[in-house]
Amino acid sequence: MIASTVALARHGREHGYAVPAVNVLDDISLRAVVAAAVHASAPLIVQASVKTVKQLGIELMTTTFRLVAQDVPVPVALHLDHCPDRAVISDVVAAGWSSVLFDASDRDLAQAERETGEVVAEAHARGLDVESEIENIVGVEDGVGSDVALHAYSVEELAAVADRTGVDLLAPQLGTAHGQYTARPVLRPDRVRALAALTDRPIVLHGGTGLAPEDFRAFIDAGVSKINISTAVKMAYMKAAAAHLDTARAKDKWDPPTMFREIQGAVTAAIATHIDWFGAAGHAADAMASGVGLAGRATGVER
Ligand SMILES: [Zn+2]
Repeated sequence: MIASTVALARHGREHGYAVPAVNVLDDISLRAVVAAAVHASAPLIVQASVKTVKQLGIELMTTTFRLVAQDVPVPVALHLDHCPDRAVISDVVAAGWSSVLFDASDRDLAQAERETGEVVAEAHARGLDVESEIENIVGVEDGVGSDVALHAYSVEELAAVADRTGVDLLAPQLGTAHGQYTARPVLRPDRVRALAALTDRPIVLHGGTGLAPEDFRAFIDAGVSKINISTAVKMAYMKAAAAHLDTARAKDKWDPPTMFREIQGAVTAAIATHIDWFGAAGHAADAMASGVGLAGRATGVER
């Protein structure tokens, strides 16, 4: 079933788990993560970076997602990850995905607030949810972002801006970073708790790859209900490909479908582990019964 991102995140918050929000790169990784969710009966958010969207094209991405996700017995949302580019946002809104992350963290506060409000009006008119980022989460991911913290605000400011712009989900800086960690991060579940006391909007954790299961649990207990996983997918994908190619070279045997199958198996296994850590297994049926579906909205993924 194709689902609403914010409805899934709210279900997670009400039931003490986080929805895995997994970046996919192609149909192999897309089918791999959906297979992991189906196997665990877990709700799932599939997301794509702007880079992936540009590489595949919005139409191919939308159609492939619909074909893979519409008839599976778990709710799956389709989300655009970090997007500072208003033109790409408009294209994805027109294509009718579940949601977008408007990343305004490169703008100063006044401009970020004004533009976020405009994106909310545009997206809500078509039934899409908006995740908002006005503080930057450190680290460059698929060409978007910065390695230094450019903007940081108080939780009171974050909650007030969210109220004024009407966004659906919040992506604050929580001590995590995109990519692989070179030093142990200073994690801020305390900041989640402080923000959750001021707003009932779901809170999103970015930079999840590399955290320990107890770190995820601390964030979920504090109020996080969508956790983004991207680097773990890339690592599983490329390491499976590398292992396959080593064998192919040694045997001088070249069979792409076998490699695709091995990549798919490795990505499924990596996401199964995260589903388990996030406590998301077994929640699919209840989430679907509680009305997380997109049906009835005039969206492209439901056509
Ligand atoms: Zn992110």
